[in-house]
Amino acid sequence: GNGAHVPALVIGTGYGGSVAALRLAQAGVDVHMIEMGMAWDTPGSDGKIFCATTAPDYRSYWLRTKTKQPLSNFLGFPIDREIPKYTGILDAEDFSGITVYQGRGVGGGSLVNGGMAVTPRRENFGAVLPSVNADEMYNVYYPRANTGLGVGTIDPAWFDTTDCYQFARVGRKHAQRSGFPFVFVPDVYDWDYMKREAAGTATRSALAGEILYGNNHGKKTLQHTYLARAKATGRVNISPLHRVTSVSAASGGGYTVVIEQLTTSGGVTATKTVTADRVFFAAGSVGTSKLLVKLKATGALPNLNSEVGKGWGDNGNVMCGRANHMWDPTGALQSTIPCSGIDNWAAGGVFAEVAPLPTGIETYASFYLSITKNPNRGQFSWSGGKVDLNWQTAWKQPAIDMAKTIFDKINSKEGTIYRTDLFGTYKIWGDHLTYHPLGGAVLNKATDNHGRLHGHPGLYVIDGALIPGNTSVNPFVTITALAERNIEKIIAADLRP
Ligand code: FAD
Repeated sequence: GNGAHVPALVIGTGYGGSVAALRLAQAGVDVHMIEMGMAWDTPGSDGKIFCATTAPDYRSYWLRTKTKQPLSNFLGFPIDREIPKYTGILDAEDFSGITVYQGRGVGGGSLVNGGMAVTPRRENFGAVLPSVNADEMYNVYYPRANTGLGVGTIDPAWFDTTDCYQFARVGRKHAQRSGFPFVFVPDVYDWDYMKREAAGTATRSALAGEILYGNNHGKKTLQHTYLARAKATGRVNISPLHRVTSVSAASGGGYTVVIEQLTTSGGVTATKTVTADRVFFAAGSVGTSKLLVKLKATGALPNLNSEVGKGWGDNGNVMCGRANHMWDPTGALQSTIPCSGIDNWAAGGVFAEVAPLPTGIETYASFYLSITKNPNRGQFSWSGGKVDLNWQTAWKQPAIDMAKTIFDKINSKEGTIYRTDLFGTYKIWGDHLTYHPLGGAVLNKATDNHGRLHGHPGLYVIDGALIPGNTSVNPFVTITALAERNIEKIIAADLRP
């Protein structure tokens, strides 16, 4: 409540925030988590908590009046539709040169993502987090994160026979015919549950097109893993529909945190002030960067250093589709959960997820989300009373060039072409977006080597903002493992005097 004092306040309930809350609570510290999105624990009038990807309703988007689907067109037709303005689950946050997709609600990105749970190849780790001891990460923190998240891999024998991964088998065939390594990719979806969906003995979720606006079954989101364990300690409280707007030094020590309570149409019903001994920024790369850049510029946290807002990257994301021949159908039934990729990182700087296109009809399309070694980095800055990001769409060109090292070759080998109808008319590359924002408060630059913000003792960054723009694979396992590493050190050194 207003005027309260808490030992530890965590801003955001995604991966970094959930790890911090669990470990602090286990160490005996009472934790209050503030989350701007909804709780996502109550069914709507249709009996479901989440809406289907094929029928986006008020629950789909964060305060938009029209959907902004990552694939804007299909067969030449725009597919976005009008929706009531509501604190929905997926935020398509527009900056001038890029739209950044993020989850909103208790569980953060785990509510909306594909669940691909990938540990970077060890030889690439030095470029991902140069100041972090790789032995510790691969011996202790990556295993701890994978266990905590409930990561598993598809049964290869089932993969070879089930209808719902026909699209991925076509992806494998085309990759291998062109000489590219095809790899299975772990995921946090419950693979046994998916088998039951396919057998008709469980309610369908992955096989019913659910993903981008939440899965009603099957997916082990943070609500089912870290946050469930955190709540079970009895020491963690979560306030959904509350947004942190300010953090500043309190006169008696600790920090004053200003929090707005939101309505489901985005209005502010109350403004509350609490004090906290320690504050953990876990609002995601964009959320944490926006807060820190504003708080430094407005003088609320004047001692933050000049690295705040810098080193932001899009994990090199770029999407594309290929049009297959009639003898290579990808299947009318496609699981929404990706399970495989094409690894051309060493030779071409690209790791491509073989992604589903779950339209419910045969499309003869192969669809890919590529993660590339795009070297471009953006910066957040404060101007005209708001935070801007200077990323330009043209900065995706290196990503496109890297993705082409795979798909130009496959097209040439198969005698196929790119789809030009998915991102507009006659547009091949989905270069306007990212699902993987990273950086803005980089480890060992804006913070020390464990996430303590320079200039203000008791303030920490513990989310994707710490990672300097690229993880070489999908990011959430690395975000979780880094949070496990940092919180262990912080608890030992700062909370056990
Ligand atoms: P987040 O998970 O983004 O959590 C931050 C939380 O803070 C959010 O809940 C937000 O609402 C809240 N917040 C923000 N600002 C405030 C504020 N001022 N006050 C209060 N609360 C605030 N990654 C993978 O590894 N594998 C995948 O398959 C994958 N697929 C993806 C698919 C989609 C569509 C998207 C959008 C992302 C995907 N990702 C995937 C990326 C992954 O979800 C993110 O990297 C991850 O969630 C980031 O974790 P985080 O802890 O940094 O922050």
